[in-house]
Amino acid sequence: MRPLPLEFVTSAGRVGELPATPVEVALVGRSNVGKSSLINALARRKQLARVSNTPGRTQLINLFRLPSGAGVIDLPGYGFAKVPAREQARWRPMIEGYLLGREQLAALLLLVDGEVGPTELDLQMLDWLREHGIPAVVVATKIDKVRPSRLEGRKQQLTRALGLDHGDVFWVSATTGAGIDRLREHVELLLTVR
Ligand code: GDP
Repeated sequence: MRPLPLEFVTSAGRVGELPATPVEVALVGRSNVGKSSLINALARRKQLARVSNTPGRTQLINLFRLPSGAGVIDLPGYGFAKVPAREQARWRPMIEGYLLGREQLAALLLLVDGEVGPTELDLQMLDWLREHGIPAVVVATKIDKVRPSRLEGRKQQLTRALGLDHGDVFWVSATTGAGIDRLREHVELLLTVR
């Protein structure tokens, strides 16, 4: 399957600074959950989005675009303890401003660590999304870190904790490429410009 031909457009501190798009999906999750790696895997590019071992520094909204104009939004990660309190305090209004103010948002991809998730913050995020009627797709990342013999149990545990059904979660690994084609197909469908 061909990769998503994404190009980086711009970074913004507020939703109001983002250029218009016909339709978009956004990705959010705990810092270090594998968001940058996933964007790179979807685009099959090594350094489109930054992959870092010192997470929590990129506190801006990043916009990537397909040739159709459809957008993929990389939202800053949450829950990284080493981020200064002042920056953490900026996170909520920035994310809420985006999620509540962006009419062309087709769906949010909520990334949860497939090995250890969901965290308390992931559950709070999902609750908040449900409360506000924002369509969310859960993506469990880094599944290559789960031993094959444990995978089935882990899937049940994670979906139950999220209050979802088995088929409601995309299971992916940016490292091995597992599940990436299926997720890419779903993202393409969400981003179809009508
Ligand atoms: P972000 O902070 O959410 O953007 O996360 P990154 O994409 O920067 O990844 C954080 C760390 O997790 C990096 O060390 C990545 O190499 C690692 N990582 C990301 N995706 C995977 C994956 O699918 N499998 C494994 N084993 N590690 C991953």
